[in-house]
Parts: sequence; C-alpha cells; structure tokens
Amino acid sequence: MSLEKLADIIFPNIEKTPEYYLEKYPKRNLKEGAKVTRYAPSPTGFQHIGGIFAALINERIAHESDGVFFLRVEDTDQKREVKGAIKDTIETINNYGMNFNEGMTGEETEKGDYGPYKQSLRKEIYETFAKDLIKKGLAYPCFCTAEELNAVREKQMENKILPGYHGEYATCRNLSAEEAIEKIKKGESYIIRLKSPGDFDTRVEYDDLIKGHVSFPENNIDIVLIKSDGLPTYHFAHAIDDGLMKTTHVIRGEEWLSSLPIHLQLFDILGFETPKYAHIPTIMKQDGGSKRKLSKRKDAESAVSYYKEEGYPVVSVIEYLLNIINSTYEEWREENPEDDYHEFQVSLDKMSKSGALFDIVKLNDVSKNVICKIKATDVYDYYIKWAEEYDKEMHDLVVNNEEMMKEVFNIDKEGPKPRKDFAKWSDVREKVFYFFDSLFDKDENIEIPKNIDMDEAKRIIGIYKDRFSLDGNNDEWFNELKEIAVELGYATDRKKYKKNPEEYKGMVSDVAGAIRAAVTHRSNTPDLCTIMKILGKDKVIERFNKFIK
Ligand code: GLU
Repeated sequence: MSLEKLADIIFPNIEKTPEYYLEKYPKRNLKEGAKVTRYAPSPTGFQHIGGIFAALINERIAHESDGVFFLRVEDTDQKREVKGAIKDTIETINNYGMNFNEGMTGEETEKGDYGPYKQSLRKEIYETFAKDLIKKGLAYPCFCTAEELNAVREKQMENKILPGYHGEYATCRNLSAEEAIEKIKKGESYIIRLKSPGDFDTRVEYDDLIKGHVSFPENNIDIVLIKSDGLPTYHFAHAIDDGLMKTTHVIRGEEWLSSLPIHLQLFDILGFETPKYAHIPTIMKQDGGSKRKLSKRKDAESAVSYYKEEGYPVVSVIEYLLNIINSTYEEWREENPEDDYHEFQVSLDKMSKSGALFDIVKLNDVSKNVICKIKATDVYDYYIKWAEEYDKEMHDLVVNNEEMMKEVFNIDKEGPKPRKDFAKWSDVREKVFYFFDSLFDKDENIEIPKNIDMDEAKRIIGIYKDRFSLDGNNDEWFNELKEIAVELGYATDRKKYKKNPEEYKGMVSDVAGAIRAAVTHRSNTPDLCTIMKILGKDKVIERFNKFIK
C-alpha cells in the first residue's frame, strides 16, 4: 500500500498502466521470419560513417526478410541535440539507398503504429512503466548526491570491490516507502533506480549474432532508470522502446555489448519478449603500427559529409561498407558484375567479430570499379552535379564543352576492360585538365619519359609536328608513329632495345611519351591518339609549338 502511495507521489499524473501500452502495441502481423530492426541515432548533428554502417546492416537484415526497418530518434540527452539533425539524418539515409518503413519522417512528423518514435515524446510511457516498477518494489527513488556517490566509489576502489550502486552500498534501496515519501516532501531531489535482483556470482550466457558466445556476471547494479531531468537512461529507454516497438533484432555498436546483462535483465523484469542482439564491431583505422577507432576529431573520413564533398558515388560507399560487413561481398561482386547490390544477402554470422578496418585505398578500388561501369553520359551528369557544388570552375568548363566531355568520359570505356581513372569526382580535374587551355596553360608539371631529356623531347616534337596525321584509325596512327620513331633512332619495341641498347636512343614508347608530355603534360593518360583526336589537329599543333618554345 505504501509503495503504491510512493509511486503516486512520484508520478501523480500517470494514470495509465503498462497493460494499456501492451494492448496499444500488439504483436506485429508479419510473415514468418520477417525481422524488425531499427536505426536509433541521437540527433547530435554529426553523422559518423559508423552510423551509415550500422543503418545499412539493419536495413539489409530487415528488408532481406520482408521485415520492418524503422527510425527512432534517441534525444534523451537534450544538451547534445542539434536543430535540423533529424531531417538531415533521414535525407542521408534515403540518399544512401535506404528507406524507413516507420518512424520519424521529419523533425516533428512520423509514420507507423508503434510511436511516438522520438524518445522525448515518450516520457509518459517511461513513467508509466517506472511507476509500475515502484509499485512492485522493483524500482525506487535514490536521493544520493554526486558527492555521496563519489565517496562510495572511492571506498569501493580502496577495498577492491566492484564499483557502483549495489548491495550494501545502495543505501537508498533500503529506505522504507515512508522514509522516501518524507524526503520527497522535504524537497530532496532524486532519480529512479532499478532494484536489481541480479547476483554478480551468477553468469549470463548469451549467443550474440555477430560476436558468438559471450558470458557475463549477472547485473547486480541498481542502474538509473530515470535521470534527474525526468528522462530515461539509454538502458531503460532501450528496453521499453524495443520491447513495445517489437524490435526482433537489436543490431548496434559493440560499445553496448558490456551492457547486455542489464538489458536482458530489464526485458525480463518488464516481461517483454527479448529481442535477438547483434553487436557490430567498431570501425577502426590503421594508424602506423596500431589500429584505432575512426575519430570524429582526427579523421575527416569519419564524417558522412566527407564522401559527398570528395565526390564518392553513394553506391561506392555502400559497396565498400558491404565489403566490410561481409568479406564474401567482393567475390559475389566479381561473379555478378551487373547485379544490384541489394541482391547480395548480408549475413551477420559471416561478419568479422573484431574491429572492422576502414581503408580508403580499398574504398578507392571499389569506387573505381563502380565508376568504370557507369555510362559516359551518366558520368557526365553525376560529375556536373558534384562540380556545381564543389568545383565551380570545372563545372563551367565541362558544361560549356558538353559534347567533348562526354567523349572524354567515354575514352576506353566500352571495351571489356574499361579504364579506372576515377575513384571520386574530385579526381576528374587532374585527369582531364589538359582538355582545357585555361587549366593546361597554368600547369607546370611536365612529365618527360625517364629515358630522354627536355632537349630530346623538343627535337622529337619538332619533327613529329610536321609529319603526324589524325586521319586514320588508331592503329594506323601508331604505325606511323613507329616509322617516325625509327627514323629518329628509336627501337620499335622493348625487346630490340634491351638487346642492343647502345644502338638506340630509346624505344618508341619514349617518343610517344614525348608527344604525351607535349599534349597533356602527363606520362599516364588514356589512349593518346584518342586524346589528340578529341582535341583536334589545330589544338595539337598549337600545343606542339608551345612545347618547343
Ligand atoms: N542512440 C544509441 C547510439 O547512438 C543507439 C544504440 C542502439 O542502436 O541501441 O549509440
């Protein structure tokens, strides 16, 4: 009776009971095996690539099973909240090819029958369950001050006892309802704690869907359920929300693994069906000899915005993340080069259990493979869209030369082995600048073949410029180049040259290299004849003349 009174004093406005919510949120009507997963970010404004990683796993697991993927906004830490973050999150997730079936649809709007989907709007629900636990003697108000808690902790450390609010150290758990009511009436502030029934000497065994078998001592700490600001802790909100929203699979960062005993205990106490858990390894980065977490502060690539700014196609990032999720993805991609990535089945048990290593070099490889398969006209469209925002000069040059640039993007594209020049749109400038005089004329980095010097390169161009033709096909062009090379004292192939190097000035490739330097300033470009044809004979002659001078 007095517990009931205590509960009423603490939550005077709560009239509903847990039964009300249990009825309001019935079992979901889904087909056998359908999984319900969620993405549950805090709206702090910063989107870490690890968030996309977690969302992608959740989304794939839900949608591969014809299940439900929903968005729950975890805004119980209101100090960290940033305006506009929810909308931003939704846009990013959509942009990354994922759709929520339920949850927040904007800062204030939502869809679905299991809401509200923003924790700050669920206060009444948390309070209803907290009130019920108080009534049952399973939760209680704790009046300890921060100083008192620190003193307890110090004493525990000294005596080498598990730190935390438990057993004899949990002084408020032994207050009678009357004593607690007295303190509340005196105006002492308090939080609500769980009266943990756990025993530290009993083990909890669990088969995590990614980590495999894990074993922990039972939770014996009287963890906080409701904080002094009236909002729930992560632990309590997680259990209430995923319990009532009927999440079947909680797939979340491994930083929560050690809290699993608390969560299993809460589900048990609340009488909810326990979801299955999968703890995702943290995204790590190789830093010298050791690995460390991708850090918001130190690593630009930790921010989702980085990929947009650099101009990685979204699909590249997704495919790269799929590679990290399941190392079998790469093989699947090779065997199914044309398939949409959605065809690949993500499996949690094939995921690496330890830190997922993030590697930009690998991302670039994946992205080159993605871009090389995109049609030239689409490359053009993607590029100008990116450049409009991030490289205005290039945007204008490219748009004013649309036909030419579509040809440029198509160089060596349609064969069985398309060129892999670009990993991201910001690579384009350096790879195509020589098609534009305004950029070419400013460029001073002329790459001459190693075998020859500048004077020799000029001699080659001096002769070649009066002899070359672009009228034939590329083979004819090359045969003509060979003839000229021979006249200039160069070997037609490497074998001949290697046999008697003293007889030659170099190889035909050195002559081509000199021409390449004069036309593009670079030693590594796509097919030179094609480039010259795109530039046109007059422009090429102009470049030859400039080069000689
Ligand atoms: N808001 C929590 C976080 O961002 C969610 C963790 C979870 O998925 O349960 O870490």
